[in-house]
Amino acid sequence: MFSEKLFRWYADYGRRLPWRGIDNPYYIWLSEIILQQTRIEQGRAYYEHFVATYPTVEDLAKASEEQVLKSWQGLGYYSRARNLHTAARHVAFDLGGRFPDRYEDILALKGVGRYTAAAIASFAFRLPYPVIDGNVYRFVSRLYGIFTPIGTDKAYDEFERLLLNVMDYRRPDIFNQAMMDFGSLCCKPVSPDCADCIFRQECFAHKEGKVEVLPVKQAPVIIQERYLYYMDIRWHESDGERLLVHQRQAGDIWQGLYEFPLLETTSPIKEDCLAERLREFLAESMGCPPESLMVGSRLRHQLTHRTIIAQFVGANYTSRPPKWPDNCRPVSWEEMKSLPISRLIDRYLSKM
Ligand code: SF4
Repeated sequence: MFSEKLFRWYADYGRRLPWRGIDNPYYIWLSEIILQQTRIEQGRAYYEHFVATYPTVEDLAKASEEQVLKSWQGLGYYSRARNLHTAARHVAFDLGGRFPDRYEDILALKGVGRYTAAAIASFAFRLPYPVIDGNVYRFVSRLYGIFTPIGTDKAYDEFERLLLNVMDYRRPDIFNQAMMDFGSLCCKPVSPDCADCIFRQECFAHKEGKVEVLPVKQAPVIIQERYLYYMDIRWHESDGERLLVHQRQAGDIWQGLYEFPLLETTSPIKEDCLAERLREFLAESMGCPPESLMVGSRLRHQLTHRTIIAQFVGANYTSRPPKWPDNCRPVSWEEMKSLPISRLIDRYLSKM
């Protein structure tokens, strides 16, 4: 009964998306990784770009990491792009280009969790694994009155058991897509359409007045502040202007992306001694102080668990400095444009 009602609703109101109604596991996997933490409208353009640029898993595997990061630029959470690339290389080079078709083998791919494995297994291979994203958590917790805090392994197990009991095993792909759409379009986070909802007679939250309370969320993570002072260092050589770029290393945000050399602090440097401190930093790390220094305005940039407060500082040298910090190198403007950069650096460059 539950599936029948849901399927009727889905036939009328379900979203038509380019990665639906196909059974190519590579394309489905691309869409699922791109759509994690990303709105559908934004993700669609990236999906279309990836499918056009890397039409097969071998094409993605053969691309360099820098090319993949450049394609990903602007989506954030760059570890997803690196994991995508690593997994593509594994499928192309170790598995002979054949995408795994068992849930456990899909789950073993780098960057693939239970949600993504269930999506690929059910959409591409019609295997009966429930897909549980934020929309499904919300809809199911309200419908059945589940107060377990969502987003934990315990909650995933509990919701999965319940969904396995109501899923239509003949069409797990349609069941999962309909559940996600119903949570997104009808059982919305704010002001759900309870008056027109096909499940309002049996819905626990609607009957008990708990719509605003469910789903129960975990305590929020404390947001950490980081202060980044970026040095936009430039000088002229015989064939044009050079600027210094820094490539971020493993173990922190934006791994592998390019930015400017920086000084990072855990609290803001006082305005009245900022220029002096930056001049000292440059003299030490570049082997001599800059000819001129211009401290720009601050940019606030929000990441999931961090607030970045960035200040960009223009530093001009009359000629190539004697040295520079580790993991930095001089580039021309042309080369800079081809390098993968974070959205923060992109924001700064687009204002120039
Ligand atoms: S009645 Fe309201 S809260 Fe319950 S499932 Fe429908 S939209 Fe969601």
